[in-house]
This record gives sequence, structure tokens and C-alpha cells, in this order.
Amino acid sequence: MTIELTTLINEALAAIAPAQTLAELEAVKVRFFGKKGELTQAMQALGALAPEEKKVQGQALNVAKQTVMTALNDKQHLLEDAILAQKLAAQAIDVTLPGRGQSFGSLHPVTCMQHDIAMYFSKLGFTIASGDDMEDEYHNFDALNIPKHHPARAMHDTFYFPDGHLLRTHTSPVQIRYMRDHEPPIHIIAPGRVYRCDSDLTHTPMFHQVEGLVVTEEASFAELKALLQDFMHQLFGRALAMRFRPSFFPFTEPSAEADIACVACDAKGCRICKQTGWLEVLGCGMVHPQVLENAGIDSKVFRGFAFGMGIDRLAMLRYQIHDLRLLFENDLRLLQQFDRL
Ligand SMILES: [Zn+2]
Repeated sequence: MTIELTTLINEALAAIAPAQTLAELEAVKVRFFGKKGELTQAMQALGALAPEEKKVQGQALNVAKQTVMTALNDKQHLLEDAILAQKLAAQAIDVTLPGRGQSFGSLHPVTCMQHDIAMYFSKLGFTIASGDDMEDEYHNFDALNIPKHHPARAMHDTFYFPDGHLLRTHTSPVQIRYMRDHEPPIHIIAPGRVYRCDSDLTHTPMFHQVEGLVVTEEASFAELKALLQDFMHQLFGRALAMRFRPSFFPFTEPSAEADIACVACDAKGCRICKQTGWLEVLGCGMVHPQVLENAGIDSKVFRGFAFGMGIDRLAMLRYQIHDLRLLFENDLRLLQQFDRL
């Protein structure tokens, strides 16, 4: 082998050894084996030699090519292995790391309140009744003693559908439907969503009500009052003063609104109770005989009492939330405070 060829091999091996990437190695390959590569040119130079010399040089060149090519291939395998090892290292899963953990949802304060109300009345033997959010005028108004031009209709800012149906403005239609389908004695509560076209600090277009209805032969206002007093006691976990004020609802006679002693200031007077010491929490009364008759119940034999209250308002009072809209914004910072169940 000539000295030039030995030098060429050494140069090639010296170029291959420090290559760090496949691209660098490819450059070395081109330098020696490309169209104008140094070994390629040496091969082309063979043509000009005499046959004897050509044979000797040719063999030497082949050995040189083989040596360089082997070194190139070995280096390529090394680099590829290194790349693979790097990839595997990057994707490695450390099974000893602690898991990310599972976060659990929590019940909405309105749901908690609804649950507690349902628990209280269920224990007393009440049935939980429900109805559709979409109602007709008859069940939402007429059957409840609110005929077409009755001023009470104006108090309900109603969402109407083009065909005359409406989104129920209270849960009272459930009473009518239940009384039509069931014989007294009746003890039900009907919690659910109701809708009115109203929106400000203390009103949202959708809110939650719970309605209670008792129809028996001896239902009385005293029984109603005792029931509601005990209910408020249980709900707020302490004895609270309660007062009834005469009021008017077309579907009850007599009617009353009930206040409890302000739970925020213990009846001393604060912003929430507007310095009165009292909070209005519900409306109630003896079911109007006409409403019983409308539902097919003999008002000479049976009497009933009914009450209705806003679940959202009770939740606000119990959890001391001061803006009704917070209940419907689904802000996790608020909701996460209620993961008690
Ligand atoms: Zn107060």
C-alpha cells in the first residue's frame, strides 16, 4: 500500500472518530465516497495506470475502501444506539413517583340545602313529588285561583312559549297535578327549578323553590306553624324566633308570610335583615277551598295547608353567601368550600 493511501485511510479514520451526529458522519462519507470524494477520485485515477500497477493499486484501494467503510458503519451504529438510548431515557416512566391523585367533585350548596330539606320532610313521612319545568297556563295559574286578568299574574314575570305554554313560575302546579292523581291524605314536598323574567342582586331568571302541601281532614294553621317552626329549627341547627304576618296569595286563605330571627346578627339588626332583625323566608296558608275543588278534592271534607320557600335564599342564609348570582356562576373557589358530602 502506498504512503498516500495510508495517509488517506488515517485521515478518514481521524475524521470519523470525532463525529457526534449522523449529519456530521454523512459529511465525512461524502468527503471520501461522494462524486468528488477523495477515495472516488483515487479509484478514477486507476484508469490511467499500466495494467500491472493497476492490479496492485486496485487491490490496495479496495482494502482502503473497506477499512473506511467499516469504520463509517461502526460509527453509524454507535451514533444510532446513542440516539435510541437518549430517546428511551427521555420517555422513561418512573414507577416509584407518587400518582397525581384524584380530585373529587362536591355538591353544590343549593343541592346540599335541597338534600337537607328533603331529608327533613321524608323523615316526617312526606313524599317528594316533581313536575315538568314547562307548564300550561291552567296548571300554573287558573287551577291555582289566578284567572286570566287577576293582578297576581302580573307579579309573575312569566317566560311564555309561542304556543301558550310557559316556564313554571312556581312549583305550585305540582300540587294541582298531585292532588288530581292521589286521594288524601296527602303529604308532599315538591322541590324544583322555577323561572321568572327577573335579574338583579337578589333575583336570577332561574331559581329553586320547594313547595309543601298537606291535605287531610284535620289539617290546621296551628299544625302548619308548628311544622315550619320545627323545620327552621332543624335547618339552622338552633331555636329561632319565628313570626307570621298576614299576607295574600290567591291559592291560600288565610295566607301568611313567615319571618325568622335574622341568623346573621341574632336579631340585633344588620345589613342583611335591613336593620329589622327579621328575615322573610317563606309564604304559606290554608289551601283555598276553590283550589281543592279545582283538583277534584271535596273541600267540605278535606282541608289543606301549603307553604313555599326559596331554596337558594335559604342556602345563602345558612352558608352566608351575600350575592345570589354567586350560586350560579360555577366558580370553583366558592364551590370547593362545600365538599362536605
Ligand atoms: Zn340581621
